[in-house]
Amino acid sequence: MGKKKALPLGDAAQLRRIVARSRRVVFFGGAGVSTASGIPDFRSGEGLYRQPFGDLDPEMILSKSFFYLNPAAFFDFYRACMVHPQARPNAAHRWLYALEKRDLLRGIVTQNIDGLHKLAGNRRVYEIHGTVHENYCMDCNKLYPLEKILSADGIPRCDACGGVIKPSVVLYGEAPDKYVCIGACREISNADTLIVAGTSLSVEPAASFLDYFSGENLIVVNQEPTPADARATLIVRGDVSEILRDEADADG
Ligand code: NAD
Ligand code: ZN
Repeated sequence: MGKKKALPLGDAAQLRRIVARSRRVVFFGGAGVSTASGIPDFRSGEGLYRQPFGDLDPEMILSKSFFYLNPAAFFDFYRACMVHPQARPNAAHRWLYALEKRDLLRGIVTQNIDGLHKLAGNRRVYEIHGTVHENYCMDCNKLYPLEKILSADGIPRCDACGGVIKPSVVLYGEAPDKYVCIGACREISNADTLIVAGTSLSVEPAASFLDYFSGENLIVVNQEPTPADARATLIVRGDVSEILRDEADADG
């Protein structure tokens, strides 16, 4: 049997040094980026997949077919578990905003639907699974803010035509927006450093976007092993919001 190659485990200081000497950094993140903001992820210890919702698992409730078959139950779950209007950007979001301001970050590709990168101030954000902040009437396309979903009793309905209002989030069984995906893959393919953080890389096609990366440094930041570790040039294990932060940033 061949000897297993040692993983390139390292620390936040190494990560910072690589970022400082890179010219085209791109960030690819998932739910673990927002857990420090109080939003549970899906697959870790306190994640939504470990919590009982009767006979249903979240992946089923968040599917396209469930949305059409049982919109009332979909919206009950969605309002209770997927929408966190009180959540604020954490140290990792702020660090990424500081990088973009200093022109050190080309773009953020996120699987998160919480809108926290944009709230932190980042402009070059590819929300490949959409956002809870955009909602549209399925009959007349009228747009609505998140408040409309939150204030509705049961299924949210359009003021203009009575149609069902659907969040612009990508449900299981739906394809992500083609143009957002093209933009995201272009950023990744142009990057010299890609930071992959807080994602289990188990949702497709998002996880395969990493295949477009051909740059020098693939950095993985996660509290547990990921499928990208085998390709990584640096792995930093631990809390995203502790590792990806400005040393001067004292808040959570
Ligand atoms: P996931 O739950 O499958 O994986 C999260 C990964 O992050 C796990 O490997 C976990 O160990 C790690 N992690 C969690 N908190 C961490 C922390 N503080 N520091 C370091 N690592 C941490 O999430 P995913 O890969 O993003 O895929 C889930 C899907 O669910 C995505 O498509 C996303 O759209 C959706 N989702 C979004 C949100 C959100 O918008 N904040 C929250 C839950 C799920
Ligand atoms: Zn309408």
